Amino acid sequence: MIELREITKEYWSKKEKNIAVDNVSLTVNEGEVFGIVGYSGAGKSTLLRFINLLERPTTGSVRVDGIDLLTLSNKELRKTRQSIGMIFQGFYLVASKTVFENVAFALLAAGVQKKHIRDKVVQLLEVVGLSDQLAKYPSQLSGGQKQRVSIARSLANDPKILLCDEATSALDPNTTESILSLLKEINQKLGITIVVITHEMEVVKEICHRCAVMREGKVVELGTTFDIFSAP
Ligand code: ADP
Ligand code: ADP
Repeated sequence: MIELREITKEYWSKKEKNIAVDNVSLTVNEGEVFGIVGYSGAGKSTLLRFINLLERPTTGSVRVDGIDLLTLSNKELRKTRQSIGMIFQGFYLVASKTVFENVAFALLAAGVQKKHIRDKVVQLLEVVGLSDQLAKYPSQLSGGQKQRVSIARSLANDPKILLCDEATSALDPNTTESILSLLKEINQKLGITIVVITHEMEVVKEICHRCAVMREGKVVELGTTFDIFSAP
């Protein structure tokens, strides 16, 4: 369902070429939890951002559900992006809005009719276990609760794909565990394909069916999590 083919991304700074992603090809299957793991600077974020074209590759192709994203008009791209949710290490909630409003805002932006918003917000907050925190502001929530709100918001468009950019890296181990369980549930119950990038091997071991290990812009290992992490 996600196909990256021979993707390269070059940056020029001070007349020096920096290759962030170096000829990477990989496929993520529908229904899978796929992990991209590696040290900081390995190219993980850049690679993840090709999937919704927040970054454009220098060369190569990006297909989602068979559609070549690089050929889409801006309008078509906006539509395709609606089927792709994203969450981040830093949550990016709007501080001046309540939990309810943060999620409602995403639904309004997605064109959901006003009369359906309340029910849909409550339903999304039930999925993430926060339906009793509607009136709180982000500053009144723990890190794990903030990430739950951002997950609810990312599900507003009924995405088929959820991209997770170091989503648990700011959280303590117990909270990480609970967010990973939630992501597993979202994958299994809602059938959403998940791609996570992380520098934490434990995260990949916990939830990913398959993973790619990146180093210096290249995929140096690719396989099932079991095969990669149980090798001697
Ligand atoms: P990771 O997510 O694994 O930490 P990144 O994808 O953020 O890695 O970065 C990979 C490499 O590309 C790094 O060397 C980074 O400095 C470089 N890079 C990323 N984005 C840019 C940019 N906008 N301009 C220049 N260099 C960049
Ligand atoms: P992350 O936590 O995603 O690894 P980074 O600190 O690597 O974040 O990058 C933050 C932002 O800065 C990203 O949008 C990335 O593309 C950009 N960036 C990273 N490295 C460079 C660089 N060397 N020059 C310019 N922009 C960069």
